[in-house]
Amino acid sequence: MDIVCSPEELSIFEIAGRVADEMNISCYLIGGFVRDKLLGRATKDADIVCTGDGIALAHAIADQFKPKPHVSFFKNFGTAHFRLNEFDLEFVGARKESYRAESRKPDVEPGTIEDDQLRRDFTINALAISLNKDTFGKLTDPFNGLADLENKIIRTPLDPDVTFSDDPLRMMRCIRFATQLDFVILPETFDSIKRNCERIKIISQERITDELNKIMSSRKPSIGLDLLFISGLLKHFFPQFTDLSGVEIIEGKGHKDNFYHTLQVIDNTAAKSDNLWLRWAALLHDIAKPATKKYEEGHGWTFHGHEVVGERMTPKIFKQLKLPLNDRMKYVAKLVSLHLRPISLTKEDITDSAMRRLLFDAGDDLDDLIILCESDITSKNKFKVKRYLENFEMVKERLAIVEENDRIRNWQPPISGDDIMKLFNLQPSREVGVLKTTIREAILDGIIPSTYDAAYELLLKKAAELNLQPINK
Ligand code: ATP
Ligand code: MG
Repeated sequence: MDIVCSPEELSIFEIAGRVADEMNISCYLIGGFVRDKLLGRATKDADIVCTGDGIALAHAIADQFKPKPHVSFFKNFGTAHFRLNEFDLEFVGARKESYRAESRKPDVEPGTIEDDQLRRDFTINALAISLNKDTFGKLTDPFNGLADLENKIIRTPLDPDVTFSDDPLRMMRCIRFATQLDFVILPETFDSIKRNCERIKIISQERITDELNKIMSSRKPSIGLDLLFISGLLKHFFPQFTDLSGVEIIEGKGHKDNFYHTLQVIDNTAAKSDNLWLRWAALLHDIAKPATKKYEEGHGWTFHGHEVVGERMTPKIFKQLKLPLNDRMKYVAKLVSLHLRPISLTKEDITDSAMRRLLFDAGDDLDDLIILCESDITSKNKFKVKRYLENFEMVKERLAIVEENDRIRNWQPPISGDDIMKLFNLQPSREVGVLKTTIREAILDGIIPSTYDAAYELLLKKAAELNLQPINK
């Protein structure tokens, strides 16, 4: 395995080595940068560790560049950072750590490079490359991390029970690296996660969710989600998700395992789109199935209204997981609520008005909704999947034709709520809502054309039923 660096990277590293020589300290590249370079993955940040004062080294290296880049540092942690063009450099003094059971904040003291490598989470993250002139480019690999990189294995440098118990976030990182790199977790290492999973409770939800989102952003998120489930970690922070698992059988009839179905839907979505929030919609689309599950005699399993309950669960889950409570959450909730609609249009005798209604409700998110729905077609029976997808193609064609004719996706009715309030001198109220909906529904149903005059005429009629008179008339 070779490392290929750009000329710019190389020149920075040579300067770093020279400055470290002048300060009479050793200095190494370490961690993710070394790992990713050896794997040929893109990286834009490098960690540099030195046997001495990392902040002083950062300043002395930054002094070599004109203009001098701004060095930010944390005295308490002994870390410093600066940026050269797009390249981020992090500096730290080599350290020795010892942990106490109740916290992931270790006692820290200066140490050797070997001490520093021992506190790293995985052998593949503990590789160091010397930057000092005499040993420039030499790999220091006390735990055979290079062999683990070649064999695609994730393993802790210490007894895994110690590594994971010291800092339980490492269990999430372990599964995240397995997913991102498509590596296998050594069975002893994975068994240790199973034993220590409960300790994830001392980690803040923000950090857990950061790792979860890295898993969700990977090429095949199901790898990590399944490992989170099997290890026992997932139920500690996302029990609604693990509740999807399992199959119940009554009168010989079972339903599908909704956890594994959901993983398949997420992977299908991920194959078509990099949009993290669309992947979240895939994760949550059936989240209310356990809450709505019923066995109806002679009929089988039903999950009536799971899309509506799922829409309502979405903000609660976003809050619990510390995901953003903004437009992204609304987008996910909307896709969850609409996820059955396109499929329902594959039935026969579907009217144009049903098509218009979906175009209106989905608006700009229609294309994403269609990706979600196609991804939701999972079955072991390939012929069934093929037939459903073909039917779905016809729905897509009809939606395109209706949109072409009626331009519904970004359409607004010709009379708005504001117009209605002005016309009848009303404050925001139930009446305004009723009048607005009446116009919109009549147009979507094709009862009146989408013109101001037709809408105004209907508005007057409906208003009269409500005993409302327009002002100035
Ligand atoms: P990525 O940048 O893709 O998340 P990375 O391995 O660079 O991967 P960072 O969080 O940037 O991860 O950390 C840099 C290095 O610091 C790691 O490679 C590892 O050696 C060490 N490290 C980070 N977090 C921990 C931790 N919780 N426990 C032990 N070592 C850690
Ligand atoms: Mg990194």
